[in-house]
Amino acid sequence: MTTKTSGPRVLLRQLRETMAEQLGSQDRLDKIVDLIAMNMGAEVCSFYVLRDDGALELFATHGLKPEAVHMTTLRLGEGLVGIIAVSAEPLALQDAPAHPAFAYKPETGEERFHGFLGVPVLKAGQTLGVLVVQSTTKRTYGDDETEAMLTTATILAEMLSTTEFDTLIKPGSDIDLRRPRTFEGNGFSEGIALGQVVLHDPRVVVRNFVADDTDAEKARLESSIERMRMSIDDMFSHGDMQVSSDHREILESYRMFANDRGWLRRMLEAVEGGLTAEAAVERVQNDTRARMLRQTDQYIRERLHDLDDLANRLLRVLTGDGDGFLHRDLPDDAIVVARNMGPAELLEYDRAKLRGIVLEEGATTAHVSIVARSLGVVCVGQADNIVSMSESGDEIIVDGAEGVVHLRPTPDVEQIYVEKVRLSAKRQEQYAALRDKPAVTRDGVRVSLLHNSGLVMDLHALEETGAEGVGLFRTELQFMIASKMPRLQEQVDLYREAMDRCGDRPIVFRLLDIGGDKVVPYLRSAPEENPAMGWRSLRLALDRPGLLRTQVRALLQAANGRPLKILVPMVTETQEFLSCKHVVLREVERLARSGFERPKSLEIGAMIEVPSLLFELEDLLPHCDFISIGSNDLVQFLTAADRANPRVASNYDPIAKPRLRAIRQIVRAADAHHVPLTMCGELAGHPVEALALLAVGMRRLSMGPSSIGQVKHMVLETDLGPVADAVNAALDGSEQVNIRSLLTDMVGKQSLPA
Ligand code: PEP
Ligand code: MG
Repeated sequence: MTTKTSGPRVLLRQLRETMAEQLGSQDRLDKIVDLIAMNMGAEVCSFYVLRDDGALELFATHGLKPEAVHMTTLRLGEGLVGIIAVSAEPLALQDAPAHPAFAYKPETGEERFHGFLGVPVLKAGQTLGVLVVQSTTKRTYGDDETEAMLTTATILAEMLSTTEFDTLIKPGSDIDLRRPRTFEGNGFSEGIALGQVVLHDPRVVVRNFVADDTDAEKARLESSIERMRMSIDDMFSHGDMQVSSDHREILESYRMFANDRGWLRRMLEAVEGGLTAEAAVERVQNDTRARMLRQTDQYIRERLHDLDDLANRLLRVLTGDGDGFLHRDLPDDAIVVARNMGPAELLEYDRAKLRGIVLEEGATTAHVSIVARSLGVVCVGQADNIVSMSESGDEIIVDGAEGVVHLRPTPDVEQIYVEKVRLSAKRQEQYAALRDKPAVTRDGVRVSLLHNSGLVMDLHALEETGAEGVGLFRTELQFMIASKMPRLQEQVDLYREAMDRCGDRPIVFRLLDIGGDKVVPYLRSAPEENPAMGWRSLRLALDRPGLLRTQVRALLQAANGRPLKILVPMVTETQEFLSCKHVVLREVERLARSGFERPKSLEIGAMIEVPSLLFELEDLLPHCDFISIGSNDLVQFLTAADRANPRVASNYDPIAKPRLRAIRQIVRAADAHHVPLTMCGELAGHPVEALALLAVGMRRLSMGPSSIGQVKHMVLETDLGPVADAVNAALDGSEQVNIRSLLTDMVGKQSLPA
């Protein structure tokens, strides 16, 4: 065991003793600054705390005038202390008063001191305060001293987080870190949820900061790093983390950081300074988080995120915490906060207790968002830095409609949301009362309302909404949430269960729509410049007929004599549809030969979501038993605006004249050929958009289960004739008419919900 009689380790030991002593909080802080000053051979040691109002208040000092304590304040960015707080970087100066930013505060008597070293006191990457030492001589504090001060600051940060200091901090000047925060993100799944934060990847709480035996701590750190490296290599070779390109990239950067000498050196230095291995990881992690919060370059910020994740992993190895988050007890109102997660991880949470999800990343069409919508779990994404700013148990409100998250909300914000939830519950009750009413407009137009689905577990909602059936079952979800290719029998089981659950209600199975944004981890393909327009969906299926045949076989076996509806996604040309149909029909024959019953009826339809098909409808429709418009992709391709890119996705109104004209053209062609037509893109689930669809003649709308109530309410209250006349006149004319405003005006006149 290494023993030293002076230096940072001695200081840490003294600090630990001070923390254990029976002292008032101010006395304890006073003693701490005395000890630091003495140990560092400095005439001054001061500790400033960042208050909620952005002021840095002098909380304790050794060497400055005592009357300045709790009197002297500096704004963020003001003076040297203010600069350190903002930059979260240490600052060492030979002659502080000579620095242009030096802010002279006469009450402190600071002008006599020249040598200066200040370090930020950080917690979860955020500045809690600033610790400063000063000397009368013009001296430069070196790297070792900076390191010792940073280590001491780690301990101070811990102390500040304890309730003991609540008595010192005046009402209204709470420490910055815990203040209410609002995050403007993007709504991925609508609804409002109030609850408490559950960190998906919980931070490990470090309790023991000061090492008894530095050599032993070094050995612990080194062996834990080795174990972590091995587990990363394991993940690569076993692919138990989804090895899609994104995940691979994260793993690559984990691997890079795990072998980064600078990172390891900084942690070892912190241990040398007297910290335990865990505390050393935390110290270095704090610096990373601080850099992360201040980083505007997206790429670098992501890499820093990875490093933060990795440090957390290392802490788990060190504390033996494992990552058994799935077995944790969830509170009844859990709102899971994560950097990102896959759909499978979401499904591991107890649905009965999960109210919402907040992600730092994600996209509307990401798998996790699709699953969240299927399950009716509120979800907001792109909430920057929320993980590092929240603690498990924090109160949180997620507003999926607005894409806003309120962390630690003030009572008045909470009150507003409690009221919103009450109103929405009332509305849901009204919608529930419509369950058994057929969806018929006031002027007698009958509309079919159907569900979009993709998980067997969300099919029970059919009972609750009274929908007529499932207009779109996204079979790829089973593939997206699995870690390996589902076998034939697994597919049969899922399809059979889905059909069983639907009973007499129709269900439309869409063939695998993978590739593009729908990443299937085990189906690796070469990276593509433009995956949405790449090797995906039907293109992939036709190139890999084995995959397609297995799925068709599974559907036929699951139906085993029952009616079967198959929908072909991403058809670009009639010929592709015919090729796919050919595979299906061949499988029917094959099935009959092997003793299975043929489906009672077999309908094969095409999705209309690639614009080129609009100019080929006359050729295509005679071959289709039904068709379905995928507005998500159709609008994306018509407007050349990536549906997954929030910067552009909402730039073009999907019911503006050109898009609505395209939809009307499909309706007219389908009517002329007597081919049933459904809309199964997101458009159908919003009342105003759904009204636009009815106006151009659509009569079958498929949507997320949670939208059925509001759309049915709209249908029941609408006098469709005049709306259809107005919309069609606008589409026929050449004037600039805003269809959305036209509809909302008419909706207002007919007193419908907008
Ligand atoms: C669509 O494109 O509108 C659609 C329904 O399919 P998905 O969202 O699954 O691509
Ligand atoms: Mg689509």
